Amino acid sequence: MGKFSEYGKRITESKLTFFLNIISKKENVISFANGLPDPSTFPHKEINEIISEILTKNPNLALQYTVTCGPNYVKDAIIKLVKERGLDNITEENICITSGSQEALFVLFHLFLNPNDTIIVEKPTYIAALETLNPIGVKYLGLDIKNNEYEIDKLEEELRKEKVNNVKLMYLIPSAQNPTGLTMGLNTKKKIIELANEYDIYIIEDDAYGFLSFNDEYNFPLKHYDDTDKVIYVGSFSKILSSGLRVGFVIASEEIIRKVEGLKQNINAHTPTLNQLVAAEAIYRNIIFKNLPKIRQIYKTKRDVMLKAIENNFPENTICSKPTGGMFIFCWLENLVDTGEILMKSLEENVAFMPGKYFYFDESGFNTMRLSYSLPTYEKIFEGIEKLGKILSSLER
Ligand code: PMP
Repeated sequence: MGKFSEYGKRITESKLTFFLNIISKKENVISFANGLPDPSTFPHKEINEIISEILTKNPNLALQYTVTCGPNYVKDAIIKLVKERGLDNITEENICITSGSQEALFVLFHLFLNPNDTIIVEKPTYIAALETLNPIGVKYLGLDIKNNEYEIDKLEEELRKEKVNNVKLMYLIPSAQNPTGLTMGLNTKKKIIELANEYDIYIIEDDAYGFLSFNDEYNFPLKHYDDTDKVIYVGSFSKILSSGLRVGFVIASEEIIRKVEGLKQNINAHTPTLNQLVAAEAIYRNIIFKNLPKIRQIYKTKRDVMLKAIENNFPENTICSKPTGGMFIFCWLENLVDTGEILMKSLEENVAFMPGKYFYFDESGFNTMRLSYSLPTYEKIFEGIEKLGKILSSLER
């Protein structure tokens, strides 16, 4: 249709929706494709109590419009939440509550990027971030993740070579990354902050899985090490409370928050008031902090089941990430053609996964796959990986 804007013409169907549709049409599929939270991590009873209490005591607040970036009561709860991630000195003026962190990414990318600007992203990175960035018409520079290592020195070299004056942004997921489950080491984090300062590049830090770390040693987000306000922190309630409530937030300088507010006003005026209040109460009533050990344990056990199943069933020359948190394992398959083709075969066996190439801005990861362990039961994880292993072994050349 010729009447769409240039931006509109570049909008394509989301791969996540595409796969969700294929899978939902088939019965009994074991799906490692979409990263849906395990519903047993949702505190059903507590959310029910909170909602009925709010609607009894404060219905007119909960059912009314509110200010674009959210009421201070909710912002104060977020200040309490992110203290646990090592973020201090955050004020209400530094926060904007969004409809999921996806909205935060959309708003920030559109506020900073012109067509042909360059953005640095991990290679591989979060598919929906790429799908948000692509229609803007940006260029990419990759921070390669290979053999479970971040190739930060290579990025530094490329930055030195590049005409860097139009590299405006980095978009990074430093903790329990989607799609690899990896977490950057402290040296890598410090190097990134150093590069951001040297080249005057802002960093959008997506901390969607920051609270889902399986390791005891505490790893702080980039924002914790940021003395120059270069890091724009994006958080979410989706993996620690409920994904359907659609509550996320941005933490940044007041100047940036005012711009976020201006654009958000044009999109949806504000995030649903009731949902924001539920998220805030879940913090004030200690529900989130109390639940987190249980949530981490559920995903850690599922990760272990999947890693063991991979070890027992996948061809020996497969390299898979060992996630430090989150919901995903990423595999680099040697000698194999295209995981897109393997997906067609595995769907015949009722097993689904995400071909890894969609997580590469240049679709170069044709021999990679993302496996999500968050939703299936332990038994289904084992059964699905066993089936996938057979397919992979039969394809080995
Ligand atoms: N960032 C990453 C890395 C994600 O994996 C997701 C959800 N899968 C999001 C952002 C968006 O989450 P939400 O909009 O539910 O907060």
